[in-house]
Amino acid sequence: TSFGFKEVPEEEKSKLVGNVFSSVASNYDLMNDLMSGGLHRLWKDRFVSELTPFPGMKHLDVAGGTGDVAFRILEKVNSISRRALRHDPAEVLNDETQIYVCDINPNMLNVGKKRAVERGLGESQSLKWVEGDAEALSFEDNSMDGYTIAFGIRNVTHIEKALAEAHRVLKRGGRFLCLEFSRVDIPILKELYDLYSFSVIPAVGELVAGDRESYQYLVESIRRFPPQDKFAAMIADAGFQKVQYENLVGGAVAIHSGLKI
Ligand code: SAM
Repeated sequence: TSFGFKEVPEEEKSKLVGNVFSSVASNYDLMNDLMSGGLHRLWKDRFVSELTPFPGMKHLDVAGGTGDVAFRILEKVNSISRRALRHDPAEVLNDETQIYVCDINPNMLNVGKKRAVERGLGESQSLKWVEGDAEALSFEDNSMDGYTIAFGIRNVTHIEKALAEAHRVLKRGGRFLCLEFSRVDIPILKELYDLYSFSVIPAVGELVAGDRESYQYLVESIRRFPPQDKFAAMIADAGFQKVQYENLVGGAVAIHSGLKI
């Protein structure tokens, strides 16, 4: 179904995504809360609870500009460290844990850095902000214990390349986790969701952020993204084992996971 939207040629996609997120960056938090009714916070909590962070881990959060996922991971690691070692928190923050936040858009990274300060994590040596493309990561092979990507992979031009890169940088035993909008297939809920995404989201985008087009693009990109089973098959094709997914809100959002063995 085209849903009345134009096909976006592949070569234009990267540029378009860049523009969208530059324009969206400053309103990002407010818009996320508005559009999801605050639910994105719970989805991210659930997402990070799927990961088993540990002190000293090396983790990569791709498309993580706002820091939302990285902060949750670091806070979990810090609370484990504090509990286990009964250390002074300042000392614990200096442990070997490294959480890389990689994003293609420097504006989004700046939003994240600002928010790290607001969250009291500004001084943390564990957070590293890296500008980079999910399709061509600057990290070494077999170097990460975990890889996360939240609401990012559908914006990547070649999903297969991003998955191959995720697999490459993970160590054996490393976990891949992806949080992304997906397909609602439950009647009535599906109709409501369609109405919401095609009418309400662009209207709110225009009203609050003064940018209908960007939000229309976001809705369209959700529809283009492969449904749960197809995406799971792509993750397996990239070499991951034990590929699974869990639907949230009837499939409006899904958490996919895989293991590099
Ligand atoms: N993970 C954050 C969250 O859940 O709040 C941010 C999600 S935001 C909807 C999508 C992010 O993907 C943007 O920050 C954008 O700059 C980034 N992005 C888009 N294409 C990318 C790519 N090829 N490589 C890395 N990041 C990319």
